[in-house]
Amino acid sequence: MRVLLVEDDDDLSRRIAASLRTENFVVDVARNGEDAEHAGLTEIFDVAVLDLGLPKIDGVAVLKSWRSAGRSLPVLVLTARDGWPDKVAAFKAGADDYLTKPFRVEELILRLRALVRRSTGHASSQISCGDLTFDAQLGTFDLAGLPLKLTAFEWRVLSCLILRKDAIVDRRELIERVYEGDADVDSNSIEVIIARLRRKIGSDRIETERGRGYRLTDIR
Ligand code: CA
Repeated sequence: MRVLLVEDDDDLSRRIAASLRTENFVVDVARNGEDAEHAGLTEIFDVAVLDLGLPKIDGVAVLKSWRSAGRSLPVLVLTARDGWPDKVAAFKAGADDYLTKPFRVEELILRLRALVRRSTGHASSQISCGDLTFDAQLGTFDLAGLPLKLTAFEWRVLSCLILRKDAIVDRRELIERVYEGDADVDSNSIEVIIARLRRKIGSDRIETERGRGYRLTDIR
């Protein structure tokens, strides 16, 4: 799950990013409205956290720009304590959720996971593929009823695949959702992660669509 974190308060931004990373999110940070607008228009994100008071372009204008360009990524807006007019403006501009500062980062994480789950079309937080189950709210995997231990990279790949179960996930999209923006990605690294996952969950479950990507399916 890749998050665009838009926040000009560096201390707050660092704290949020660190917490998100320990929960396996890939985090890209924008510190002003201009960079945020550009990133949201040109890159792939599963969800965005958008502060409203930003240098250069304010958050509501950034959101309007994304929406008028047809970008549908879920957006959680961060607002000030007494920011009722801000909230209304943000929802009118296309926000999906909000949190009022100060907030607990644990709540932010729960809300982000819920936004990603709903935006990928899942009503329930339990997503199953045969005897493999993902709890999209807690971020945990079970295999045949037992907790499945995964590295951060494995978790990112498998969560992306199970949220889009039965669909082909484009290889490039997968790379964007697994590595942080400036990471130097070896072209075989996704294959290596897929091979490790196949050893853990069974080799038939992840199909390779040659030249396109990967698909997670129930074993028939
Ligand atoms: Ca701000």
